[in-house]
Amino acid sequence: MLDAVLNFLSNGLTGASWVAMLVFLLVMTQLTIFTVTLYLHRSQTHRGVDFHPALANFFRFWGWLTTGMVVKEWVAVHRKHHAKVETEEDPHSPQIYGIKKVFWDGVSLYRDASYIKEDLEKYGRGTPDDWIERKLFGGHPYWGPTLMLLIDLALFGVIGAAIWAVQMIWIPFWAAGFVNGIGHWWGYRNFESADTATNLAPWGVWIGGEELHNNHHAFPSSAKFALRKWEFDIGWAVICALRAVGLAKVMRVAPTLDIRPNVHLPDAETLKAVLTHRF
Ligand SMILES: [Zn+2]
Ligand SMILES: [Zn+2]
Repeated sequence: MLDAVLNFLSNGLTGASWVAMLVFLLVMTQLTIFTVTLYLHRSQTHRGVDFHPALANFFRFWGWLTTGMVVKEWVAVHRKHHAKVETEEDPHSPQIYGIKKVFWDGVSLYRDASYIKEDLEKYGRGTPDDWIERKLFGGHPYWGPTLMLLIDLALFGVIGAAIWAVQMIWIPFWAAGFVNGIGHWWGYRNFESADTATNLAPWGVWIGGEELHNNHHAFPSSAKFALRKWEFDIGWAVICALRAVGLAKVMRVAPTLDIRPNVHLPDAETLKAVLTHRF
């Protein structure tokens, strides 16, 4: 009996090797990254892409299970960031709070912003408000990560607690700290937007394409973040794959530069393009 208990504590149900645990961790955290960038950010916040209800509900479940973040709160805080960027009202501007605060403690800035009730109403419109949102995902956000802890412990024994801890700091670190902090502080800029947003790298692979934060601020509702020939956005690659199998519908992408070598003076088409761009 004691042997069985000790064996369970050290190996869990799977007796997985270190390599298997690392692969598991990577798959879990990347799925969470995709949930944040594709569902919370590009779809719910900016409406650049729509997902099939089955997939949208999977994303909702996954976000709840692995982060405990509430869709309406996330959307409201992020929309406010775009609306008030780099002002006193921006929930997490490194220009206002300093890069150290946003990078290391971005999660408490997010939490404080998510407590502002009138902002939730003002900026959180159009997010899920059904039975399961009220009773479970939004009503009991901490049950998700608690269930995740039990799953990790069951699969791997006590080491599962460490795997769980890494899962729990993944989004606070890479999204709240890295994108919100460094993404407004260091990197290159394609667009002279009125904010300080930067592209962290031309190949957005590790944080789901969120690396291209300057491009995103220039065209917030574009489902595609890579805008130059040499840039790559893994989130957009996934959207294209999902679209090919009927699980995603792209609503908006940023316009591409249209050069007409045979036209030397502005004409009616140029005027139309300028007006469309302005409005
Ligand atoms: Zn930003
Ligand atoms: Zn955004």
